[in-house]
Order: sequence, then structure tokens, then C-alpha cells
Amino acid sequence: MRGSRRRNAPQEASRKATPRSDSPLRQGLVISHLGKGLAVESLEGEIILCHTRRRLGDAAVGDRVLWSPCEGDQGRVEEVLPRISVLTRPGYAGKIRCVAANLDRVFVVVAPSPEPDLLLVDQYLAVCEHRRIPAEIVLNKTDLAGAQAAGALTDYERIGYPLHRVSAKAAIGLDELKQSLQHHCSMLAGQSGVGKSSLTNALLPDKNLRTGEISEKSGLGRHTTTAATLYHLPEGGDLIDSPGVAVFGLAEMSGQSLAWGYREFQEYIPRCQFNDCRHIRDKGCAVREAVEAGAISAARYERFLKLLDKLASPDDPV
Ligand code: GDP
Ligand code: ZN
Repeated sequence: MRGSRRRNAPQEASRKATPRSDSPLRQGLVISHLGKGLAVESLEGEIILCHTRRRLGDAAVGDRVLWSPCEGDQGRVEEVLPRISVLTRPGYAGKIRCVAANLDRVFVVVAPSPEPDLLLVDQYLAVCEHRRIPAEIVLNKTDLAGAQAAGALTDYERIGYPLHRVSAKAAIGLDELKQSLQHHCSMLAGQSGVGKSSLTNALLPDKNLRTGEISEKSGLGRHTTTAATLYHLPEGGDLIDSPGVAVFGLAEMSGQSLAWGYREFQEYIPRCQFNDCRHIRDKGCAVREAVEAGAISAARYERFLKLLDKLASPDDPV
């Protein structure tokens, strides 16, 4: 619980570099990935700098872990508990790195300005479908004249993505957005300049205080300002802030999973004549027929074809 943080009792194992064999495993939540270690929040709300064993692979922000106390005030993550979801990004040497775990809501932020990049919006939504993370859309900057942007979003509303109209600057629609964030672990995604940081600051008035606390407790100073970090929202729910980290690449998706990532295609895909239909110009393609009949938005289908092209050219960063 927030506000109930207290210091751990002095560590009995402080003279040893490795955990005592009898030291009990404790539950914790990874709240920041600091490069040199993980900031783990204990059940009591204490922040502990933890190291990981190599074999643990990639513990990520949002992971629930079992950890044991080590020397000083530090700890070691012994086990990453099963995840309900994970977002990844390409790492070095073709490896995939986990960036955020256990997200159960992604809010894709768009604005009248900069003009919405709908290909990017589709890409975020497809990755969310693929990862089984429910997504919602936030139209920010509604204090600006934005009829055009809102018009382009009706396609998304029609296929069931909730749309929130807000303004971080004019404090419009924020209470309703806070309610949608309650009971969830969420992340804001969107192109640069749409107002993600402004919204994050509006939702988390004590963000800097908390970041400072994590820096201080972990002993790693300013590292945390750019690290992906999980914050508890005052009204309930958690928000993972991942500044500057691209976590929505299509790299792990195939053409087939991209098609399933377009949720309005899902009811048609099983009706295609061939199991391996690519939904391009294939004979008997039910998806294409639905586009021609107007049941699927032609604009969304065109963007699907563009994303397929991107997938097919591995040199392009996707
Ligand atoms: P980010 O790149 O997505 O994090 O976007 P920022 O939060 O940095 O915002 C980009 C610009 O949009 C800044 O100049 C903000 O002041 C401005 N901005 C953010 N929210 C709003 C809003 O609701 N209305 C208006 N008019 N401007 C906003
Ligand atoms: Zn098809």
C-alpha cells in the first residue's frame, strides 16, 4: 500500500554476499529496470535494489518475483512468477527483451496535432491483440479544434475500441480516464508529441517525488529518470511509464498473426477458402470479400497490406 512504507528490519545476512540458505523467499513487484539491477517493491512497500541470476532471463517492470535478502540492503531475484502478458522489444544480437510484464490495458494516445499516424495506431492495436492485452484509445488535446482526428477514429470505435476524449492541458475527461485506469496495470503508447508525458503528469502528480524515492533507495541516482517505471496511481491501478522505449515492434509477428491482430478480420478468417490464405489477392478470401462488401473498413485493410509489406522486408525497423 502507498503511504505504509517502512524500512525493513536490519538484514541478518548482511555479512554474506549470497543469500543465506535458510533465508525465506519474499514476494515483490519489479517497479523499475535500472540496467544494473531491478528496483523491487516488497509487499510492505519497501524498495529494494535486487540483482538477478543470469538464468532468470529477462525480468521486466511489472513482473511479480520471489526475492531473498543479500548483503547490505540489497536482494536477489530468485524466481519470476508466471506472467499474464508481456511486451517486448528487439535487443542486441537478435535477442528479444521483455520491457513490461503483466500489463492488462494499453491506452493508445492520439491527438489532432501531430496528425495521427494511423499505421502506427494499427500496429499498436495489432500487437495488443497478439499479446491479448485489451487496448483503448485516448484522443488528447480536445481543447484544440480536432474534428478531423476524431473522424478518423470512428473506425476504431465501430470495432469496439473504447475512445476517451481528454485534454491534459485543460483537464478535460481526466476523471473518467482515471476510472478506466483503476484496477488495471496500464501503459500509454503513442507517437511523440501527442501528450503522453503531459497525461502521465496529470495522472501522477507525485511522479517526480516517487522517481526520486526510487533513485535514492536503489542508490543508482539519475538512472531511473529514463528507466521504465511502474507507478501506483492515487485513485488505484498502476501505470507503467516507459519513456523512449519502443515496445510495440511487429518483429515477433507473422503475416497470419498480423491478420488476427486486426480484430474485425477475426470472424472472416476461418471462412477463407484456404487455411493459409494471406488475405491479399488469394482466391476465396473472406476478408477481402468483407472489405468489398463494406463490412470491413477499406482504410484499415489498406493499412493491413502496408504492415504486411513492412513485415516482409526485414531490413525495415518495424
Ligand atoms: P509526448 O511526446 O507524447 O510525451 O507529448 P508531451 O506530453 O511532451 O506533449 C507534447 C506537446 O503537446 C507539449 O507542448 C504539450 O504542452 C502539448 N500538450 C499536451 N497535452 C495537451 C493538451 O491537452 N492540449 C494542448 N493544446 N496541448 C497539449
Ligand atoms: Zn483470406
